[in-house]
Amino acid sequence: MSAVAREQGSIDETLAFLREARIPHQAGELLGYATDGSFLTLGVPTLVVFPKDEAECAALVDHAVRHGIALVPRGTGSGTAGAATAPPGSVLVDLERLGACDARGHRRGLFAPIVVDARGTPADLAKAGPDDELYVRVGAGRTSDETNRALAGHGWTVAVVPSSGYSTFGGNFATNARGSGTPAFGPFGNAVNRLRIVATTREGARVLEVTDREEVRRLAGHHGLCGLVTELDVRIAPIPKPEDMVCALLSIESEDAGHLGATIGGLMKRVAAECRYFAGEFLFIDEGIVRPDDPIRKDPVLGGTFVLPAGRRRMILLYRGRKEGMEALPRIAAEFPEVAYREITFPQFRALMAVRTAATGKALRRVNVPGAEDFIIYDPARFGDVLSRMFAAVEGASGRPVGHHYPDGIEVHYRPQAAVTRADIEAAWAMIQKLREAVLRTELTVEDRKEHGLGLALFRDGSPSRHEELRRLKAEYDPANVFCPHLLLPEIEGRFIGSSFRV
Ligand SMILES: Cc1cc2nc3c(=O)[nH]c(=O)nc-3n(C[C@H](O)[C@H](O)[C@H](O)COP(=O)(O)OP(=O)(O)OC[C@H]3O[C@@H](n4cnc5c(N)ncnc54)[C@H](O)[C@@H]3O)c2cc1C
Repeated sequence: MSAVAREQGSIDETLAFLREARIPHQAGELLGYATDGSFLTLGVPTLVVFPKDEAECAALVDHAVRHGIALVPRGTGSGTAGAATAPPGSVLVDLERLGACDARGHRRGLFAPIVVDARGTPADLAKAGPDDELYVRVGAGRTSDETNRALAGHGWTVAVVPSSGYSTFGGNFATNARGSGTPAFGPFGNAVNRLRIVATTREGARVLEVTDREEVRRLAGHHGLCGLVTELDVRIAPIPKPEDMVCALLSIESEDAGHLGATIGGLMKRVAAECRYFAGEFLFIDEGIVRPDDPIRKDPVLGGTFVLPAGRRRMILLYRGRKEGMEALPRIAAEFPEVAYREITFPQFRALMAVRTAATGKALRRVNVPGAEDFIIYDPARFGDVLSRMFAAVEGASGRPVGHHYPDGIEVHYRPQAAVTRADIEAAWAMIQKLREAVLRTELTVEDRKEHGLGLALFRDGSPSRHEELRRLKAEYDPANVFCPHLLLPEIEGRFIGSSFRV
């Protein structure tokens, strides 16, 4: 029997199983699932399954083990490293409905949060104090955005939130995402206290509950290799009172990107050593970053930030932390005379964060081309060198670098914005490859995709010690080897999908 016939045979068996088990699915040429936020593809998948709960996941995994079918978990598909793309013959498992549906199976964004303490005992948020260590018990298909809506009325928030607040907790855990809250709580995996995962034996599915914190941390960043995570206890934190917090806006401008980076890198090094903060973010300002009629331009404090003399570059840096952790910041800023420092209100901080989030995101009739995000610069003293190389490589392109200041380094994101034509998208992709070549260098202390995960490059570019750990975890949780077996192959490489867009 040919491989194609075998493949079709197993797809037919799987379709019969899904119909029998009444698990929603879609079959055919699934162009919409050919890529994720990476623009990489392994081909067009032909079957995607949408389980709503752990029981459906367990039934699906059981079927996969018995019939030797590879499964590729997928959350929102916002990952930028190709980890949520499926090679031919494997089945994509869309987990956005997981633990997020009502009794009739409809996904609901509004829900009443279940809160537990560190031992997993139910807790009452109305009676909780600011020092209580609490977790929200959520389905893996839930997102930070909807959970924050559910918690806001109680004055609490998810502790670690990536800019992609719409991504699923299952995806945040599998990529060990970072974001707002990471300076205080670490990457997402450090903020998870317990999880449930549908793993395998050689004979079928098994459901495991993992409560050992060290094991949870090892599993964080598993890239879907070990099983379907169904439920997590995710750390939450009280929303601090405005009077206990400091929000600060620091701004510097120059013609020379290298000089800006060297100065701000020096300042960041001091801040990392002397301050404690929840969020540290930077972005470059250019004419196109907010619309001419955006109300932020009229804000008496913030408006001037968006007026830029010709030929100059402006970089702004935003910090938010408790007053006691931020005492040193004005003094540190004063040591850098070119840096303007001012305290702003929380609503002003939020308005600038909205600009910061959108700066990598949206553009009318243009598309963001990923590919060079993210990279971390471990030594802030090299920030200037990296920015000089970066601006030289992307000369003439639109889009701007933005990123985070974490205590362990500076995380940089950059996506050019291309017109929706094949030529423009391909030119942007080629430019990104040039940029990667320029900055992904050990002498610059730069490491690739520390934040978004290595994805398809996990076993090509990851460290040997992490490879060993992942192989051990995979053997333990997935002895049947049904979850993303392709990721273990160093030669696996995604194809850029931009050339095949129908525009
Ligand atoms: C505009 C934008 C902003 C972003 N900002 C950030 C940021 O600030 N910080 C950051 O770290 N990342 C960021 N990202 C990257 C991405 O959003 C994160 O990696 C996110 O955590 C991925 O979640 P997802 O639900 O989209 O997962 P997907 O992309 O669908 O999948 C990612 C990985 O998770 C696995 N997976 C998903 N769900 C499960 C599950 N339930 N069980 C087992 N495995 C699972 C998949 O197999 C895959 O390996 C951003 C992306 C975009 C497009």
